[in-house]
Amino acid sequence: MQQITRDVYAETNVRGANVGFVVTGEGVVLIDSPMIPPEARWWREQIAEVADQEIIYLINTDHHRGHVLGNQYLTTAVITHEAAWKEMKSYGDSFRQRLINRFIKDDEPEVAAEFENLKIILPCVTFTNRMTLYKGGKTIRLIHVGGHTAASSLVHVVEDGVLFTGDVVVKGRHPFIGHGNSKDWLNALTFIRKLRVKTIVPGHGEVCDRETLQMLSEYIRQMRAQVRKLYLAGRSKTETGSRVDLFNFFPIPDKDRQRTRKRFKASVGRVYEEMKTSYGASPEAKKRK
Ligand SMILES: [Zn+2]
Repeated sequence: MQQITRDVYAETNVRGANVGFVVTGEGVVLIDSPMIPPEARWWREQIAEVADQEIIYLINTDHHRGHVLGNQYLTTAVITHEAAWKEMKSYGDSFRQRLINRFIKDDEPEVAAEFENLKIILPCVTFTNRMTLYKGGKTIRLIHVGGHTAASSLVHVVEDGVLFTGDVVVKGRHPFIGHGNSKDWLNALTFIRKLRVKTIVPGHGEVCDRETLQMLSEYIRQMRAQVRKLYLAGRSKTETGSRVDLFNFFPIPDKDRQRTRKRFKASVGRVYEEMKTSYGASPEAKKRK
Protein backbone atom coordinates (compact mmCIF):
# COMPACT_ATOMS: atom_id res chain seq x y z
CA MET A 1 0.00 0.00 0.00
CA GLN A 2 1.20 3.47 -0.87
CA GLN A 3 0.60 6.55 1.24
CA ILE A 4 0.15 9.41 -1.21
CA THR A 5 -0.59 12.24 1.21
CA ARG A 6 -1.22 12.21 4.96
CA ASP A 7 -4.80 11.02 4.40
CA VAL A 8 -4.86 9.39 0.97
CA TYR A 9 -3.74 5.84 0.20
CA ALA A 10 -3.62 3.67 -2.90
CA GLU A 11 -2.84 0.09 -3.79
CA THR A 12 -1.72 -0.75 -7.31
CA ASN A 13 -0.88 -4.42 -6.76
CA VAL A 14 -4.30 -6.01 -6.42
CA ARG A 15 -5.92 -7.77 -9.36
CA GLY A 16 -8.84 -6.23 -11.21
CA ALA A 17 -8.00 -2.56 -10.80
CA ASN A 18 -6.23 -0.15 -8.49
CA VAL A 19 -8.00 0.83 -5.28
CA GLY A 20 -7.62 3.62 -2.77
CA PHE A 21 -9.12 5.42 0.18
CA VAL A 22 -9.33 8.79 1.88
CA VAL A 23 -9.29 9.17 5.65
CA THR A 24 -11.55 12.10 6.44
CA GLY A 25 -12.13 13.34 9.98
CA GLU A 26 -15.47 11.51 9.90
CA GLY A 27 -14.89 8.12 8.37
CA VAL A 28 -13.14 6.52 5.44
CA VAL A 29 -14.17 6.96 1.81
CA LEU A 30 -13.10 4.17 -0.55
CA ILE A 31 -12.47 4.25 -4.25
CA ASP A 32 -13.21 0.90 -5.96
CA SER A 33 -12.87 -2.54 -4.39
CA PRO A 34 -10.46 -5.42 -5.09
CA MET A 35 -12.00 -8.02 -7.38
CA ILE A 36 -10.58 -11.21 -5.82
CA PRO A 37 -12.29 -12.05 -2.49
CA PRO A 38 -9.13 -12.79 -0.41
CA GLU A 39 -7.62 -9.54 -1.69
CA ALA A 40 -10.78 -7.61 -0.77
CA ARG A 41 -10.63 -9.06 2.77
CA TRP A 42 -6.93 -8.20 2.99
CA TRP A 43 -7.76 -4.66 1.85
CA ARG A 44 -10.33 -4.27 4.61
CA GLU A 45 -7.62 -5.17 7.15
CA GLN A 46 -5.19 -2.67 5.62
CA ILE A 47 -7.76 0.09 5.92
CA ALA A 48 -8.49 -0.81 9.54
CA GLU A 49 -4.79 -0.69 10.37
CA VAL A 50 -4.42 2.84 9.07
CA ALA A 51 -7.74 4.36 10.09
CA ASP A 52 -9.53 3.85 13.35
CA GLN A 53 -12.77 4.92 11.70
CA GLU A 54 -15.68 3.38 9.92
CA ILE A 55 -15.98 3.05 6.16
CA ILE A 56 -18.68 5.55 5.25
CA TYR A 57 -18.77 5.40 1.44
CA LEU A 58 -17.38 3.35 -1.42
CA ILE A 59 -17.29 4.96 -4.83
CA ASN A 60 -17.09 2.68 -7.89
CA THR A 61 -15.52 4.56 -10.80
CA ASP A 62 -17.30 2.29 -13.29
CA HIS A 63 -19.33 -0.95 -13.28
CA HIS A 64 -16.67 -3.31 -14.62
CA ARG A 65 -16.08 -6.33 -12.42
CA GLY A 66 -12.48 -5.29 -11.65
CA HIS A 67 -13.89 -2.34 -9.70
CA VAL A 68 -17.02 -3.63 -8.01
CA LEU A 69 -16.80 -7.32 -7.08
CA GLY A 70 -15.15 -6.71 -3.71
CA ASN A 71 -17.87 -4.32 -2.53
CA GLN A 72 -19.50 -7.02 -0.45
CA TYR A 73 -16.45 -7.25 1.85
CA LEU A 74 -16.28 -3.51 2.50
CA THR A 75 -19.61 -1.71 2.76
CA THR A 76 -23.10 -1.44 1.34
CA ALA A 77 -22.85 2.38 1.13
CA VAL A 78 -21.90 2.33 -2.54
CA ILE A 79 -22.01 5.36 -4.83
CA THR A 80 -21.78 5.23 -8.63
CA HIS A 81 -22.88 7.06 -11.71
CA GLU A 82 -26.46 6.25 -12.67
CA ALA A 83 -25.32 4.34 -15.78
CA ALA A 84 -23.18 2.01 -13.66
CA TRP A 85 -26.15 1.24 -11.43
CA LYS A 86 -28.14 0.25 -14.53
CA GLU A 87 -25.40 -2.15 -15.63
CA MET A 88 -24.86 -3.64 -12.19
CA LYS A 89 -28.56 -4.31 -11.81
CA SER A 90 -28.22 -6.92 -14.55
CA TYR A 91 -25.41 -8.85 -12.79
CA GLY A 92 -27.36 -12.01 -11.98
CA ASP A 93 -26.79 -15.75 -12.00
CA SER A 94 -25.40 -15.95 -15.54
CA PHE A 95 -22.92 -13.18 -14.73
CA ARG A 96 -21.74 -15.17 -11.71
CA GLN A 97 -21.49 -18.38 -13.73
CA ARG A 98 -19.39 -16.72 -16.44
CA LEU A 99 -17.06 -15.44 -13.76
CA ILE A 100 -16.72 -18.88 -12.17
CA ASN A 101 -16.10 -20.46 -15.59
CA ARG A 102 -13.39 -17.96 -16.36
CA PHE A 103 -11.44 -18.73 -13.21
CA ILE A 104 -11.84 -22.47 -13.72
CA LYS A 105 -10.49 -22.04 -17.24
CA ASP A 106 -7.60 -19.99 -15.87
CA ASP A 107 -6.78 -22.83 -13.48
CA GLU A 108 -7.74 -20.95 -10.32
CA PRO A 109 -10.38 -23.22 -8.78
CA GLU A 110 -10.06 -21.66 -5.32
CA VAL A 111 -10.99 -18.22 -6.71
CA ALA A 112 -13.82 -19.80 -8.73
CA ALA A 113 -15.14 -21.41 -5.53
CA GLU A 114 -15.08 -18.05 -3.72
CA PHE A 115 -17.32 -16.56 -6.38
CA GLU A 116 -20.03 -19.09 -5.51
CA ASN A 117 -20.71 -16.65 -2.65
CA LEU A 118 -20.66 -13.53 -4.78
CA LYS A 119 -23.12 -10.83 -3.75
CA ILE A 120 -23.39 -7.80 -5.95
CA ILE A 121 -23.77 -4.71 -3.81
CA LEU A 122 -25.78 -2.28 -5.89
CA PRO A 123 -25.18 1.43 -5.39
CA CYS A 124 -27.61 3.09 -2.99
CA VAL A 125 -26.72 6.59 -4.19
CA THR A 126 -26.22 7.56 -7.83
CA PHE A 127 -25.42 10.79 -9.65
CA THR A 128 -25.55 11.85 -13.28
CA ASN A 129 -23.17 14.75 -13.66
CA ARG A 130 -21.39 15.80 -10.51
CA MET A 131 -21.61 15.28 -6.81
CA THR A 132 -19.52 16.50 -3.88
CA LEU A 133 -18.96 14.86 -0.49
CA TYR A 134 -17.98 17.21 2.33
CA LYS A 135 -16.72 15.06 5.14
CA GLY A 136 -14.34 15.68 7.99
CA GLY A 137 -12.54 18.58 6.34
CA LYS A 138 -12.26 16.93 2.94
CA THR A 139 -13.92 17.93 -0.30
CA ILE A 140 -14.34 14.88 -2.50
CA ARG A 141 -15.67 15.68 -5.94
CA LEU A 142 -17.21 13.02 -8.15
CA ILE A 143 -17.07 14.09 -11.75
CA HIS A 144 -18.68 12.20 -14.61
CA VAL A 145 -16.52 12.19 -17.76
CA GLY A 146 -17.44 9.01 -19.66
CA GLY A 147 -15.03 7.81 -22.34
CA HIS A 148 -13.97 4.42 -20.99
CA THR A 149 -17.62 3.59 -20.22
CA ALA A 150 -20.75 5.73 -20.21
CA ALA A 151 -20.51 5.66 -16.39
CA SER A 152 -16.82 6.49 -15.95
CA SER A 153 -16.23 9.07 -13.25
CA LEU A 154 -13.29 10.72 -11.54
CA VAL A 155 -12.80 11.15 -7.81
CA HIS A 156 -10.98 14.36 -6.97
CA VAL A 157 -9.72 14.75 -3.41
CA VAL A 158 -9.40 18.50 -3.59
CA GLU A 159 -7.35 19.40 -0.46
CA ASP A 160 -4.84 16.65 -1.21
CA GLY A 161 -4.47 17.33 -4.93
CA VAL A 162 -5.10 13.65 -5.72
CA LEU A 163 -7.21 12.38 -8.58
CA PHE A 164 -8.50 8.81 -8.81
CA THR A 165 -9.37 8.30 -12.45
CA GLY A 166 -10.60 4.72 -12.67
CA ASP A 167 -9.85 3.31 -16.11
CA VAL A 168 -10.08 6.71 -17.82
CA VAL A 169 -6.34 6.75 -17.16
CA VAL A 170 -4.27 3.57 -17.34
CA LYS A 171 -0.50 3.51 -17.28
CA GLY A 172 1.69 1.23 -19.37
CA ARG A 173 -1.13 -0.80 -20.88
CA HIS A 174 -3.76 -0.55 -23.59
CA PRO A 175 -6.82 1.46 -22.62
CA PHE A 176 -9.98 -0.61 -23.15
CA ILE A 177 -12.36 1.27 -25.45
CA GLY A 178 -14.62 -1.73 -26.17
CA HIS A 179 -17.46 -0.39 -24.00
CA GLY A 180 -16.72 3.28 -24.46
CA ASN A 181 -16.45 6.22 -26.78
CA SER A 182 -13.05 7.38 -28.00
CA LYS A 183 -14.08 10.96 -28.64
CA ASP A 184 -15.53 11.38 -25.14
CA TRP A 185 -12.36 9.78 -23.85
CA LEU A 186 -10.14 12.38 -25.52
CA ASN A 187 -12.33 15.11 -24.06
CA ALA A 188 -12.04 13.51 -20.62
CA LEU A 189 -8.24 13.55 -20.85
CA THR A 190 -8.29 17.21 -21.87
CA PHE A 191 -10.53 17.94 -18.90
CA ILE A 192 -8.16 16.15 -16.50
CA ARG A 193 -5.19 18.14 -17.81
CA LYS A 194 -6.92 21.32 -16.65
CA LEU A 195 -7.59 20.10 -13.10
CA ARG A 196 -5.28 21.21 -10.31
CA VAL A 197 -3.92 17.86 -9.26
CA LYS A 198 -0.48 16.75 -8.19
CA THR A 199 -0.96 13.01 -8.25
CA ILE A 200 -3.03 10.71 -10.42
CA VAL A 201 -4.03 7.23 -9.30
CA PRO A 202 -4.88 5.47 -12.56
CA GLY A 203 -7.22 2.49 -12.90
CA HIS A 204 -4.29 0.25 -13.75
CA GLY A 205 -0.53 0.72 -13.46
CA GLU A 206 1.58 2.81 -11.13
CA VAL A 207 0.63 6.10 -9.55
CA CYS A 208 1.51 8.76 -12.11
CA ASP A 209 1.23 12.38 -13.20
CA ARG A 210 0.18 14.41 -16.22
CA GLU A 211 2.76 12.90 -18.56
CA THR A 212 0.77 9.68 -18.68
CA LEU A 213 -2.21 11.65 -20.04
CA GLN A 214 -0.20 12.77 -23.03
CA MET A 215 0.73 9.25 -24.06
CA LEU A 216 -2.80 8.00 -23.67
CA SER A 217 -4.26 10.82 -25.76
CA GLU A 218 -1.68 10.10 -28.42
CA TYR A 219 -2.68 6.43 -28.50
CA ILE A 220 -6.40 7.17 -28.79
CA ARG A 221 -5.82 9.83 -31.45
CA GLN A 222 -3.73 7.40 -33.47
CA MET A 223 -6.33 4.70 -33.15
CA ARG A 224 -9.07 7.04 -34.34
CA ALA A 225 -6.97 8.20 -37.29
CA GLN A 226 -6.07 4.68 -38.40
CA VAL A 227 -9.59 3.32 -38.02
CA ARG A 228 -11.03 6.33 -39.86
CA LYS A 229 -8.67 5.78 -42.77
CA LEU A 230 -9.42 2.06 -43.02
CA TYR A 231 -13.16 2.64 -42.69
CA LEU A 232 -13.18 5.25 -45.44
CA ALA A 233 -11.08 2.93 -47.62
CA GLY A 234 -13.95 0.42 -47.40
CA ARG A 235 -12.29 -2.10 -45.06
CA SER A 236 -14.58 -4.33 -43.02
CA LYS A 237 -14.57 -4.25 -39.23
CA THR A 238 -12.64 -7.54 -39.03
CA GLU A 239 -10.04 -6.34 -41.52
CA THR A 240 -9.70 -3.10 -39.62
CA GLY A 241 -9.21 -5.08 -36.41
CA SER A 242 -6.20 -6.86 -37.84
CA ARG A 243 -4.73 -3.90 -39.72
CA VAL A 244 -4.62 -1.22 -37.04
CA ASP A 245 -0.97 -0.96 -36.07
CA LEU A 246 -0.88 -0.04 -32.38
CA PHE A 247 -0.69 -3.38 -30.61
CA ASN A 248 2.96 -2.83 -29.74
CA PHE A 249 2.43 0.70 -28.45
CA PHE A 250 2.60 -0.77 -24.92
CA PRO A 251 4.71 -3.73 -23.80
CA ILE A 252 2.58 -6.82 -23.15
CA PRO A 253 3.76 -9.79 -21.08
CA ASP A 254 3.52 -13.08 -23.02
CA LYS A 255 0.92 -14.57 -20.70
CA ASP A 256 -1.43 -11.62 -21.33
CA ARG A 257 -1.05 -11.40 -25.09
CA GLN A 258 -4.08 -13.44 -26.07
CA ARG A 259 -6.49 -11.63 -23.75
CA THR A 260 -5.01 -8.24 -24.63
CA ARG A 261 -5.37 -8.98 -28.35
CA LYS A 262 -9.04 -9.78 -27.86
CA ARG A 263 -9.64 -6.58 -25.91
CA PHE A 264 -7.64 -4.59 -28.44
CA LYS A 265 -9.87 -5.86 -31.27
CA ALA A 266 -12.94 -4.97 -29.24
CA SER A 267 -11.59 -1.43 -28.85
CA VAL A 268 -10.93 -1.13 -32.59
CA GLY A 269 -14.43 -2.47 -33.27
CA ARG A 270 -15.98 0.14 -31.06
CA VAL A 271 -14.07 2.98 -32.72
CA TYR A 272 -15.13 1.53 -36.10
CA GLU A 273 -18.77 1.85 -35.01
CA GLU A 274 -18.12 5.47 -34.05
CA MET A 275 -16.80 6.13 -37.57
CA LYS A 276 -19.92 4.55 -39.02
CA THR A 277 -22.02 6.95 -36.97
CA SER A 278 -19.90 9.92 -38.06
CA TYR A 279 -19.58 9.09 -41.75
CA GLY A 280 -22.70 7.09 -42.48
CA ALA A 281 -22.98 3.68 -44.11
CA SER A 282 -19.77 1.95 -45.13
CA PRO A 283 -18.35 2.78 -48.56
CA GLU A 284 -19.14 -0.78 -49.72
CA ALA A 285 -22.77 -0.43 -48.76
CA LYS A 286 -22.90 2.82 -50.71
CA LYS A 287 -21.41 1.11 -53.78
CA ARG A 288 -24.12 -1.56 -53.64
CA LYS A 289 -26.87 1.06 -53.76
ZN1 LIG B 1 -13.48 -0.32 -16.49
